[in-house]
Amino acid sequence: MVLRFYNTLSKKKEAFRPLKKGRVSMYNCGPTVYDYAHIGNFRSYMFADLLRRYLEWKGFRVKQVMNITDVGHMTFDEVADSAGEDKIEKKAKEMKKEPWEISRFFTQAFFDDRDKLNIKPAEVYPKATEHVGEMISMIERLKKNGHAYESGGSVYYDVTSFRKYGRLSGNTIEKLRAGSRVEINPDKRNPYDFALWVKNPSHIMQWDSPWGRGYPGWHIECSAMSTKYLGDTLDIHTGGEDNIFPHHECEIAQTEGATGKTFVRYWMHARHLMVDGKKMSKSLGNFYTLRDLIEKGHNPKAIRYLLLSAHYRTKLNLTEQALKSAQKTVDSLEGFVRKLKSARGRETDKTEKLLKKTKKAFEKAMDDDLNISLALAALFDFTRDISRLCDRGEVSEKNALDVLEFMYDIDRVLGLELDRVEEEWFTLKEADSKVRHMLETREIYRKEKKWSEADRIRDQLKEMGIAVEDSPQG
Ligand code: AMP
Ligand code: ZN
Repeated sequence: MVLRFYNTLSKKKEAFRPLKKGRVSMYNCGPTVYDYAHIGNFRSYMFADLLRRYLEWKGFRVKQVMNITDVGHMTFDEVADSAGEDKIEKKAKEMKKEPWEISRFFTQAFFDDRDKLNIKPAEVYPKATEHVGEMISMIERLKKNGHAYESGGSVYYDVTSFRKYGRLSGNTIEKLRAGSRVEINPDKRNPYDFALWVKNPSHIMQWDSPWGRGYPGWHIECSAMSTKYLGDTLDIHTGGEDNIFPHHECEIAQTEGATGKTFVRYWMHARHLMVDGKKMSKSLGNFYTLRDLIEKGHNPKAIRYLLLSAHYRTKLNLTEQALKSAQKTVDSLEGFVRKLKSARGRETDKTEKLLKKTKKAFEKAMDDDLNISLALAALFDFTRDISRLCDRGEVSEKNALDVLEFMYDIDRVLGLELDRVEEEWFTLKEADSKVRHMLETREIYRKEKKWSEADRIRDQLKEMGIAVEDSPQG
């Protein structure tokens, strides 16, 4: 069976072959941490999680990097050169806090939610504000290569210098010209040029640069951070469909303009999560956070199931009904596992035949651009058939163990921890989050050289049965 993914760049399904045999480098556009992530954002992260889990199930070693945007993402971000206010700074002013307090708080909230949804942590979560040096170097390379120019203390990308601009999204310069009008900025050579570095004395977060004090544009952040951790060419880059333009189009122009190499081999985008036919978004006000749904009595496991059970390239509607039916499915899968644990029928070869057939069907469907709905349909046929055999006393303890082994194996992809009941899942996720939180706080103390506070946390963790070891890398 050949693993194939739909590539937004070529607009067709392509056989997946990573650059290095057996290894996959993957970058996901992560949250802008000015508020709690909504369930729509989590659809995109859940898609990345499913993709990673499936690749690991297939035997690949995946290096996953997800950025944390804590500067430069503006409120009006539908055009390449975004405008308005910095989302983090806007929130900081509203809450009368410092921008870093806002981003630290919501980054932690994001990690807590991620853990509740059993999304595997990426290997690195680089923060934009900690990589301004790398962004400045990339902008300097772009200037040297004739793609960027300085004007009025800001630096812009000259879109006419990059022949391939528009290939990903279809928004070529000709099309942009024919479309809506953009405001004329006398500092720019072309109206569609976008800022790599912005001079704006009223911005709170500022850094020194060869062009004076300022802050980086949103797009350059992902170009600089993805290549720092994954090299000049990545196997996979993901995001929600709204990232295709302008964000990813600009990322390609920047990274390829700087390195001269192919930036991304497979571009993959999740369609939006919808509410009443509209994209769930902060600006429309039609959003729910994970916390909102938990408060309404929904379980994170059912929410996880709902988000991953629809193919990532179909629109998914969030409704009360859909959440309820997701809960029913999760209950029935758990019930199935319980039933198997007590199966004591006579031994037959029927389970083995069904197992073979189902494993093949599951893999075939998932290999076809992660066709999860088809894969799940095969799984449900299987659970129905086995359940009937169980009722007829045709599943022995040994047969049941084989089926359980298969269910747990599939669960490495689904991440539903089927052998754990809901309450246990909740307590465990909360405990995971607590430990991670303690480790992060200890890291902050260590950076600030507050050794006794750091040691106190280490002792507390020791009491909880967790040993902490520090290596030169952290
Ligand atoms: P942001 O925090 O706005 O930078 O968005 C984080 C990620 O969530 C991006 O990859 C977006 O494309 C994605 N996203 C935003 N809204 C939705 C939605 N309604 N459905 C799916 N993904 C979304
Ligand atoms: Zn990004």
